[in-house]
Amino acid sequence: MRIDRLLQVNDFGSKSDRKHLFQRKIVTVDQRVITDGSINVDPGLQIIKVGNHLITGPQEYYWMMNKPAGYVTANKDITKPVVFDLLQAQDRHPDLYSLGRLDRFTEGLLILTTNGPLSRRLLQPHQHVAKTYAVEVNGFLGYDQVQAFAQGIVIDQSYQCQPAQLQIIQAGSSASRAQVTLHEGKFHQVKKMFLSLGVKVTQLKRLSFAGIDLDPDLAPGQYRVLKADELALIK
Ligand code: URA
Repeated sequence: MRIDRLLQVNDFGSKSDRKHLFQRKIVTVDQRVITDGSINVDPGLQIIKVGNHLITGPQEYYWMMNKPAGYVTANKDITKPVVFDLLQAQDRHPDLYSLGRLDRFTEGLLILTTNGPLSRRLLQPHQHVAKTYAVEVNGFLGYDQVQAFAQGIVIDQSYQCQPAQLQIIQAGSSASRAQVTLHEGKFHQVKKMFLSLGVKVTQLKRLSFAGIDLDPDLAPGQYRVLKADELALIK
């Protein structure tokens, strides 16, 4: 879409008002100043700004949700509630995607968007998007486990996980707390990694995704629009 048209649909005034914005050199695409209103841009994949104001496409939405336990990350489920049920009616757009899935009883950061190409791109394995989780397990975690995570744990009999960072917060013989950062996203990966070390995950919460941290002001089930600096981390 032409950048001038994009500014028009975002209510940036008359044709001459918009021309003035280009002349003032405050319109940027991926941090490059744009003075020509006729160039084509893709608001789904580029960061477009007028000054500090982020411009999104006409139908583009991005939210950060604090997913509560008990909700399935899916558009529909026959028997269980799904994360999209937590959205207010006006936010339930027909084409909504989540950036990765959290298991039903996992809590924490989930990013929801109408930007399908972005969600597909970020979920490609070679993107190595960093995800950090707070974990509680039913056994001891110590130096050996930190080393095992750093070397790459084997799950599903033969799959060697990429090196991951385990940071122990509190260790006890029957329960320990830690944070783990992975750069891949296999099915039930965190639970399987700990199971390979002989402990069971009793609580799991995602704290960050691609450098975007869960907003501590969001109660479970609440969501808010992503801020421009957060969006810039994933686009
Ligand atoms: N790993 C898991 O085991 N579960 C999740 O929900 C996310 C990562």
